[in-house]
Amino acid sequence: MSDCIFCKIANKQVPSTIVCEDEHAVAFRDLNPKASTHVLVVPKKHIKDLREAEPQDEQLLGHLLTMAAEVAKMDGVSESGFRVVINAGPDAGQSVDHLHVHVLGGRHLSWPPG
Ligand code: 5GP
Ligand code: ZN
Repeated sequence: MSDCIFCKIANKQVPSTIVCEDEHAVAFRDLNPKASTHVLVVPKKHIKDLREAEPQDEQLLGHLLTMAAEVAKMDGVSESGFRVVINAGPDAGQSVDHLHVHVLGGRHLSWPPG
């Protein structure tokens, strides 16, 4: 999608701090971090949100979670614990229409989220 900010980040048309990348996904630091570790893991394929994911995306969805766990390890928050969040739609506060997995860690995260 030519006007999608996360597609542009994945294509390196827009700068970001990339922490991990492979053929299928890229992980970069959130512009407005809510914890000392706040990384977004996105598929290189444009999927609008989790509701738009199809059965053929199952392997890719699993891959995003594996990369999220890898990012937590790389950032040194794996042992202390971390949270992965996927916001989908208005009630969840999704603000960017390209599927992304938040990886948050480095502080105690309250539950339930607000
Ligand atoms: P959402 O609210 O859709 O679940 O999360 C979108 C996230 O993307 C927010 O945490 C926001 O700070 C982050 N974000 C929005 N635009 C950019 C950008 O251009 N670069 C980076 N690195 N993060 C962004
Ligand atoms: Zn996109």
